[in-house]
Amino acid sequence: MRVLVTGGAGFIGSNLVRYLLAQPQLERLVNLDCLTYAGNLQNLAGVDGDARYVFEQVDLRDADRVLDTMRRHAITRVMHLAAESHVDRSIAAPGAFMHTNVIGTFNLLEAARACWPSGGGERLLHVSTDEVYGSLGREGLFSESTPYSPRSPYSASKAGADMLVRAYHHTYGLPVLVTNCSNNYGPYQHAEKLIPTVIGAAIREEPIPVYGDGMNVRDWLHVEDHCRALWTVLERGRVGETYNVGANNEWANLRLVERIADAVDEVMGRRPGRSRELINFVPDRAGHDRRYAIDASKLREELGWRPEHELEAGLRDTVRWYVERARATATG
Ligand code: NAD
Repeated sequence: MRVLVTGGAGFIGSNLVRYLLAQPQLERLVNLDCLTYAGNLQNLAGVDGDARYVFEQVDLRDADRVLDTMRRHAITRVMHLAAESHVDRSIAAPGAFMHTNVIGTFNLLEAARACWPSGGGERLLHVSTDEVYGSLGREGLFSESTPYSPRSPYSASKAGADMLVRAYHHTYGLPVLVTNCSNNYGPYQHAEKLIPTVIGAAIREEPIPVYGDGMNVRDWLHVEDHCRALWTVLERGRVGETYNVGANNEWANLRLVERIADAVDEVMGRRPGRSRELINFVPDRAGHDRRYAIDASKLREELGWRPEHELEAGLRDTVRWYVERARATATG
């Protein structure tokens, strides 16, 4: 098995690279990443020692280099994660989201089509988000048959990519799979995202920003559970199918922030309640979706996947990881 991971220097990608290198059947792992502000090779410290691992600094927008990378390494499996991923940035400057998420995915599909002309058991897994389904009211869950209703430039660009991937299956018979996952948490996430932002502000005893009334609900999944789901779908999913990934961990943002604040106090040995005093409500994000929640029963029932991380314990471990990293950085 010769796997190409795109976006392997990012948050989920770097966790996935570590996860994949623990799989003995892996012959070659090529990490294709152009290292935007969100990509960081330090997320992969230590993996260079594995002879199966190769890093290729390639931009998905460069169709020729994407094709050349797939050809040179005789890739048989693709796990496509590279994307512009931050909703706030997509609101401020959507252009890069269209070029990377839509055109970049198109370039990858074309490369796979050129490299895999005869159906030799290859597979391309496109990693997407639950945000393509839009926003929920108080009730209900997103299933694989929920109509798409993307509402930010980020989710619209991911929805466009998902549609292209499906079209390549129907039109050309390209062996694709799609996963749509809820919000991830865990180590190596960029500081701009909600959980690292909250932990960082609490560590520094700065105001902890919370959008609007803090009652927007997200469904949280530990990144290691996501990586295991991706591997499960790549290995055993039915080609042409979509699988939702989630762990039924719906929490209002404010509740999540309070738990993180408490965990920071605990890990840093501070007075209980100190970090909650730092919570600061800020004007809401434009078009902020109210609630996301995932029905992952297809993945559970068809492929036997189960999340292993319990949210409260997973959050505490995550807080400990970021606190230790902040301490290591401070001491040089
Ligand atoms: P991230 O922003 O942490 O990492 C993205 C990576 O892609 C970076 O290493 C970056 O350098 C690379 N990249 C960006 N543009 C590129 C380009 N043009 N060419 C090559 N590399 C490029 O993102 P993440 O949070 O790890 O998300 C990974 C994937 O998972 C994305 O497709 C995202 O939509 C999806 N996803 C994320 C979450 C989440 O909670 N983080 C949830 C569901 C789905």
